[in-house]
Amino acid sequence: MIQRTATRIEARPSDRDSRSWQQLLSASVTTPEDLLRRLELDPDIWLSGATEGHRLFPLRVPEPYLQRIIPGDPADPLLRQVLPLSAETDTRSGFVRDPLQERDSMQTTGLIRKYQSRALLMVTGQCAINCRYCFRRHFPYDEHRLTPEDRAEVLATLGNDTRINEVIFSGGDPLVANDRLLSSWAESLAGISHIRRLRIHTRLPIVIPQRVCESLLGWISESRLQVVMVIHSNHPAELDNDTRHALERLKAAGVTLLNQSVILKGVNDTARVLSDLSERLFECGVLPYYLHAFDPVEGAHHFSVSDDRSRELVRQLIGTLPGFLVPKLVRELPDQPGKTPLDLFA
Ligand SMILES: *Cc1c(COP(=O)(O)O)cnc(C)c1O
Ligand code: SF4
Repeated sequence: MIQRTATRIEARPSDRDSRSWQQLLSASVTTPEDLLRRLELDPDIWLSGATEGHRLFPLRVPEPYLQRIIPGDPADPLLRQVLPLSAETDTRSGFVRDPLQERDSMQTTGLIRKYQSRALLMVTGQCAINCRYCFRRHFPYDEHRLTPEDRAEVLATLGNDTRINEVIFSGGDPLVANDRLLSSWAESLAGISHIRRLRIHTRLPIVIPQRVCESLLGWISESRLQVVMVIHSNHPAELDNDTRHALERLKAAGVTLLNQSVILKGVNDTARVLSDLSERLFECGVLPYYLHAFDPVEGAHHFSVSDDRSRELVRQLIGTLPGFLVPKLVRELPDQPGKTPLDLFA
């Protein structure tokens, strides 16, 4: 594990793919056949399950992420996050389609408001990578394409509520949207005097580091708003040198960088991996923020880690890491004023 991480992060920045992020995004692997071929996995073993899972939630993996997966290793922790399996077709009691009940919190089209001071703006329904464990795998993405009227309504809603001081770009993955759209949102939001911060929840600096381009850095550093980026990394092998370089550029542009992870069986359910992840994040200029307890999403029970096991892992982290590298173990529950911390010493 350690050895593999070390070899992966030694790729020199000069080896960086010079294609634009848009080109890389459209060149993503989107079929089980291609994925198995690229990663030298036996189709006789993996193809039928991958096809079944893919029918429920399409496979999508961008090239820069693919390059960090070790070919021929079905247990690779990055592969596990993207390879569809027949286990996804199992329905189990307690595993539901919308565990967060987000549909009930839709304030106007595209705006989710659960907490008093911050509102979540669904900039786009698309993602650059489809993570098999995602609680949004059942979300009706296409319902969220915003018309000019929706946009006006969102801005009016935000402008009329002075309690809101932070807007979170979410999705899907908001950085799949182009910088023209994003900068025009940022500009409109900056025109609302009670809004201080813009937060961006994204996996793109990890899956396509080239997304951190001049035009993104340009509008971010020009904005009046303080910008916070919450990236989403689950394993230290996701943080290669290209990603590190992208994160350093964001930091130099004044962005506060935080990370959220989901606890996932077979990916990061050991104290060693979680501790290496925190250390690697810090090397990249990022502080761990949340570790999300597993949500019972239909089709993702094979990633399930019990709350007791998750608590035990975080207690082990407390014993080995400085406090600022220990993520908060939380769960999103309906009708709570914010994320709910799991009691570690209960
Ligand atoms: C997680 C979440 C937020 C942000 O919560 P923080 O604790 O501030 O990170 C905001 N709105 C919704 C709906 C969320 O699920
Ligand atoms: S990038 Fe985020 S929203 Fe998109 S599939 Fe992955 S976890 Fe879900």
